[in-house]
Amino acid sequence: MKVAILGAGPSAAYVAMACTKLSVKYDIISSRSPTLFFPGAFWLRQDPWTHTTPTAKIHIYSTGDVIGYLRKQWKMVDPDWLLYTSFPEAAHTELVWDPYKILKPFWKNKNILLIKDLSDQDTADIAEGYDLVFMTFATQESKKTMKPFVIKYPIISYNIEEIIANKNDVDLYLTKLSKNEYCLYDGDTGHYITRVSQLFGYIHFEYSQYYIPTQELIGDGKVTWVPDTYPDTPEWDLQDVPANNVHLIGRHAQWNRKILSYHAYEQTIDILEQKL
Ligand SMILES: Cc1cc2nc3c(=O)[nH]c(=O)nc-3n(C[C@H](O)[C@H](O)[C@H](O)COP(=O)(O)OP(=O)(O)OC[C@H]3O[C@@H](n4cnc5c(N)ncnc54)[C@H](O)[C@@H]3O)c2cc1C
Repeated sequence: MKVAILGAGPSAAYVAMACTKLSVKYDIISSRSPTLFFPGAFWLRQDPWTHTTPTAKIHIYSTGDVIGYLRKQWKMVDPDWLLYTSFPEAAHTELVWDPYKILKPFWKNKNILLIKDLSDQDTADIAEGYDLVFMTFATQESKKTMKPFVIKYPIISYNIEEIIANKNDVDLYLTKLSKNEYCLYDGDTGHYITRVSQLFGYIHFEYSQYYIPTQELIGDGKVTWVPDTYPDTPEWDLQDVPANNVHLIGRHAQWNRKILSYHAYEQTIDILEQKL
């Protein structure tokens, strides 16, 4: 069977791992090199290679309340959204995988065909040469329809090793360093920060979509504008694809913000098992 994986983000990595598990060969085609930096509260819940228990401990806390958190994120609060928020009801600890330990080694020496941004027609043309295509980004058609639901919000990330090496304002940053990995959800409405986390060598500050950080605030940090969608965004019809053998995989392709990257593994195994 000839399989193409479109994209080189976390979902594409999990699709490829699922193909390997079922001894299916694949080509990876993407407009950018693999994603090797993960801003904000990002971690993985499954390692298909080992299937062992994860080793990274993350302490998850909150301050303020869930209504304040949702209001900072979206201005208004629909009661239904309370069902979909990840704001923690109580402090707890999760065991997870460090994405840098799984995805960096995964992408090392992988052959990726780098091309321009694919249009839906390009995807349909590629699909003619394959039995199955896994597309991990949104179709052009869905992007047009879903435009009103899309937002972007800023995350500022500081590399802890660089902070310590540069010793710039080190006292300021060290006050935010903890011995443990953590993620703090912030529902206090007096400022624009929504989450602060210290994860895998970085401190991340996530801000409301209504806030534009100044250079003075950013300092030595790296800003990433992260796409997100409103909680009531409708899912895209999975049959509405550029060609019949194309499968949409991942939260952006499916327009479902509850999808995490490891779901791509299970979804791909299901699709492949039906075809093999
Ligand atoms: C702050 C934050 C925290 C999150 N926390 C978690 C978490 O803890 N765990 C988790 O699993 N998920 C989490 N998510 C969701 C996470 O972002 C997604 O699961 C993951 O990044 C989606 O990966 P993806 O591979 O589906 O898409 P992307 O990372 O967007 O990858 C898409 C790929 O397709 C390529 N591409 C895009 N358009 C085209 C085109 N037209 N032609 C060719 N190539 C193209 C891109 O270059 C990229 O390689 C979080 C998201 C945010 C914002």
